[in-house]
Amino acid sequence: IKTIGVLTSGGDAPGMNAAIRAVVRTGIYYGLKMLGIRKGYNGLVTGDIFDMSARDVSDIIHRGGTILQTARCKAFTTDEGMQKAMSISKAFGIDAIVTIGGDGSYRGARDFSKFGMKVMGLPGTIDNDIASSEYTIGYDTAMNTVQDALDKIRDTAYSHERCSVLEVMGRRAGHIALNVGIAGGAEVILLPEREFDFDKDIIRKIIQGRNNGKKNYIIILAEGVAEKIGGALELSKKIEDLTGIETRGTVLGYIQRGGSPTIQDRVMASVMGAKAVKLLKDGVYNRIISVKDSKVIDLDIDEALAMKKDIDNDLLELSNVLSI
Ligand code: ADP
Repeated sequence: IKTIGVLTSGGDAPGMNAAIRAVVRTGIYYGLKMLGIRKGYNGLVTGDIFDMSARDVSDIIHRGGTILQTARCKAFTTDEGMQKAMSISKAFGIDAIVTIGGDGSYRGARDFSKFGMKVMGLPGTIDNDIASSEYTIGYDTAMNTVQDALDKIRDTAYSHERCSVLEVMGRRAGHIALNVGIAGGAEVILLPEREFDFDKDIIRKIIQGRNNGKKNYIIILAEGVAEKIGGALELSKKIEDLTGIETRGTVLGYIQRGGSPTIQDRVMASVMGAKAVKLLKDGVYNRIISVKDSKVIDLDIDEALAMKKDIDNDLLELSNVLSI
């Protein structure tokens, strides 16, 4: 392998820049030619590709978003689009591609490998919803952003003796919701991975809390649940109608995706980015970088895509104990 292209795909996440930096600099350190591909797989289809030097990734480790920009690419899901991307890759002399993104982006990489490209995946998403990895780049930053917002909301919930419903991101996974719920002392955490009963698990819990002397309540509503039962504003109204407790809903939205990455996201992105390139240099490819038992490992991409992951049940049980 002489030339490696790097791209970010799917939703952006804080720490993607730290990963790009690690990929580019590790490659240059080993004497490889490094190319940046803009806007996810779109850049491969359109030829939006440029040489990257060590200086092109200066002063980005602390910045959210991705300097390569990211996008979803419809063309890349077709054979025709893949063939075009393969021709363009050949034209630019690309021997291997590092994709920083989620499960969808891994699927794109896996399909592209069938056309002869050597691929490597890095887990980048705030949702931590990549089945094969315990940890994804951006997850820690997003949780800290939500935590900060929750602490502020709790201040006014306390002052006004209110109930607050906070809707948080996570797509179809409740990892952000669960951890923030524990860290922020939420009374109720609604996760897409678990069934719940509106009257018993929400209304009764709030009323029991009031009978036990509670004066304010935090309810975390995961995005994947909001999609099914309605958003924070709708849920707030229902709770207020039934309990008589003033209830306010907040949808945090895109502030969760931006911002300067935490130290954990920067360090993990650096370690994983460097490992991806080291493996490629050693002739190992069609793998994804992943975290297992807190260690950074690599897995076969097909194996990784077949894996399943659940939320941490012990944490969920703990949240029930600690919210009485
Ligand atoms: P994420 O990587 O965050 O899960 P998406 O699911 O939106 O994000 O996937 C990002 C991009 O990866 C898609 O726009 C598409 O170009 C590509 N992709 C997703 N799924 C597939 C697939 N099954 N086959 C080929 N490409 C895919």
